Amino acid sequence: MHRRNLLGLAGAAGAAAMLPGVARAQRSLEEGLPVPTGNYRRIGTEAAFATQPQLEAFRAVRKYLEDSPELAFAGILLGDNAYAKDMTPRLLNIGEGRIAEMDSDGVAMQVLSLTSPGVQIFSADTATAVARESNDILAEAIRKNPSRFAGLAAIAPHAPEESVKEMERAVNKLGLNGFIVNSHTDGEYLDQEKFWPILEAAEALDRPIYIHPRTLPKEALGPFNAYGLQGASWGFAVETGTHGMRLLFSGAYDRFPGLKVVLGHMGEGIPYWVYRFDHMYEKAKANWGTGGLKEKPSHYLKRNMMITTSGMFSEPVLKYCMEVIGADNIMWAADYPYQANREAGVFLDAADISEDEKVKIYSGNAERVFHLRKG
Ligand code: MN
Repeated sequence: MHRRNLLGLAGAAGAAAMLPGVARAQRSLEEGLPVPTGNYRRIGTEAAFATQPQLEAFRAVRKYLEDSPELAFAGILLGDNAYAKDMTPRLLNIGEGRIAEMDSDGVAMQVLSLTSPGVQIFSADTATAVARESNDILAEAIRKNPSRFAGLAAIAPHAPEESVKEMERAVNKLGLNGFIVNSHTDGEYLDQEKFWPILEAAEALDRPIYIHPRTLPKEALGPFNAYGLQGASWGFAVETGTHGMRLLFSGAYDRFPGLKVVLGHMGEGIPYWVYRFDHMYEKAKANWGTGGLKEKPSHYLKRNMMITTSGMFSEPVLKYCMEVIGADNIMWAADYPYQANREAGVFLDAADISEDEKVKIYSGNAERVFHLRKG
């Protein structure tokens, strides 16, 4: 019953070719992924789900998506290929089926977020309505299983005032734990002044904004339309890392010093560039008088940014990120259901870092930043 994402696992094609049926291949794959064994409370901080109102809204705009770069992601929800037929039911399940998988994979809790591109491809009015309905569904799932689920509220950034109202409702009435924004909205980014009320509200409510990947805006996508680079292998990180850099260089963290932004995939490349952007920022300031940040850009990485391990199960990258931004700013995530919980757990269990650091990354940091109940 725990069917695996065939596209997400190297070696799947080879295994399938040797077996008479895909189902058997999937079982074999699963048997090949050991269950994490360390006695940790594993909190998955990037765990996607979908709702019926979101699916219906995708179906309603389907004809507009045919030529759109979004069709690949939306296609998962529209359920018209084998991958989607496996994935969509798992995305929709935020009850017993998901909990059974979590039990089998050694995951204590998931922080749920509406799957990319969330509501951000819809008109502002539709997006606002679907976000609200989806947040209600999320809150109900958490109410039924409060020790297993927490959740991030979806918002419609292109309706900033409505977003602020929904953020306040999500935290104060629904008890949600932060916000999900699937990177750009109509090619616009959260550093732009029209979105400042959203940043201000997140700071005031003391809940983070998780900036999750989506496809680059159409006008930027051209060079990525080769070799499959537009997706998770590179394009998503370029898009989402650029969003993170815009927030960093815009002065958003001077304006909203308590704001916390979470990036998945070990920071979408940003930690790797820290020497270079600090160096170039100073140089640009001295030579051209640009930039008015109060601190070096790297200062804000530790103060305002959290990263997660989603889909980046690499020990050298983990260790580098711990050195650059600190173990207090890293949270465990699998990127369920697109990537395997087990692989994410086995990776961190085996990492050559201290027990204290593992506890922080698995659970402590998430409990603090998302205000989760302690296990
Ligand atoms: Mn994801």
